[in-house]
Amino acid sequence: MEKQTRREFLKGIGIAAGTIFVLPGCAGMTRKKTEEKKEPNIIVIVGDDMGYADVSCQGCTDIATPNIDSIARNGVRFTNGYVSCGVCSPTRAGLVTGRYQQRFGHEFNPGPPREGLKEGVGLPLTEVTIADVLRSAGYTTGIVGKWHLGMAPHFHPMKRGFDEYFGFLSGSHSYTDPGLGSANPIMRGTEPVDEKEYLTDAFTREAIAFIERHRTKPFFLYLTYNAVHSPLQAPERYQNKFEQISDPKRRTYAGMMTAMDEGIGKVLGELKEAGLYEDTLIFFVSDNGGPTGNNGSNNEPLRATKATLYEGGVRVPFMVQWPRRLKGGVLYEHPVITFDILATAAAAAGADLPKDRKLDGVNLLPYLSGEKKAAPHEILFWRTGQNHAVRKGNWKLVTMGGQTGLYNLVSDISESKDIKAEKPDVAEELEKAFEQWNSQMAEPLWGGQAARPRRTN
Ligand code: CA
Repeated sequence: MEKQTRREFLKGIGIAAGTIFVLPGCAGMTRKKTEEKKEPNIIVIVGDDMGYADVSCQGCTDIATPNIDSIARNGVRFTNGYVSCGVCSPTRAGLVTGRYQQRFGHEFNPGPPREGLKEGVGLPLTEVTIADVLRSAGYTTGIVGKWHLGMAPHFHPMKRGFDEYFGFLSGSHSYTDPGLGSANPIMRGTEPVDEKEYLTDAFTREAIAFIERHRTKPFFLYLTYNAVHSPLQAPERYQNKFEQISDPKRRTYAGMMTAMDEGIGKVLGELKEAGLYEDTLIFFVSDNGGPTGNNGSNNEPLRATKATLYEGGVRVPFMVQWPRRLKGGVLYEHPVITFDILATAAAAAGADLPKDRKLDGVNLLPYLSGEKKAAPHEILFWRTGQNHAVRKGNWKLVTMGGQTGLYNLVSDISESKDIKAEKPDVAEELEKAFEQWNSQMAEPLWGGQAARPRRTN
């Protein structure tokens, strides 16, 4: 597909907000609904720093991602799928708690703590995680991969609802030399291990072993590959099919994507072999948009990159399958966000949600089945220090670096034309909604800039 054609394709899938439709040729994928009430296994697969345009099902032509694509083909692809921040740690805090992470001060990647923060930097201990919720419903819970929600022992995943852990605690890791001896070792449980395999392959191996160990009763697996976050490292066997890619950064990125995609294929294969495929709810999402200059990713046609609140920072590849319950080949156009994962997983599992706090996520199942026609979210907000954004219907108001723009995402998915001057009433409405939301959020507990000053009137 030529570049322009791909742009047109992606623009095309951003249009027609509010409709659910089945892709031509995929009607045969439609699953028979059953009345079966068996709790599904639940797997949440997270990619790291992927470009919006770097999966084949979103127009990528130089890297094939057949296994990630298969989740969309056999389930639902969200064309307006968001994360709650443009960088790694806050977006994971939102995902695992089902809440705006600004409610509890987890607004930035780890940085210097505010004075008096005795527990240190990590997902505040007051928070309930998706693993806590699912474990309370009898699920065996495991995480394989990157945690990035605190390195102190009290923030360890096995203190946050997970029965099992294999991975690393910080935000990035060497792939080709995982080894021992660093301050950020690969760990099994709480013990460092001398891992020898290419890290993406090691995570796939451990994910499959987890499924094998727990195949006889419901499990939750949080599979958080650090691919395709830097450092850019891929063995020759994953890069050698990309000789036609002249940019060496992009070539290595392609190899890293391939390792993850093939790994996901092996996980799906394991589920099929174990007879669990139909009854497993699987999400796939990237934790933020691509840092294009850093890792060779491609966010086209979206504006900007990771660490911004433009679409290139927060709109990501996002899809879900559950063959037993959800039709395949569906595009879902209403905005959804990663904290919907917890609410959806809890509903699928029959798990109780915490009742002593505000959750922001929505159970998407009735929306995806067509039972509910309205948008799951009337409005969505983002805040990173002084920068903020609001999405309501087709409109998005973005303030970055002191500059505010209003965009119509249906006619201008690339946020290229600021129409604030033409639509001052819309801009004012969204800004007021933001101020109201902002007044309910906490100050950041660490790092970055001070949060946006609250209005005193
Ligand atoms: Ca990331």
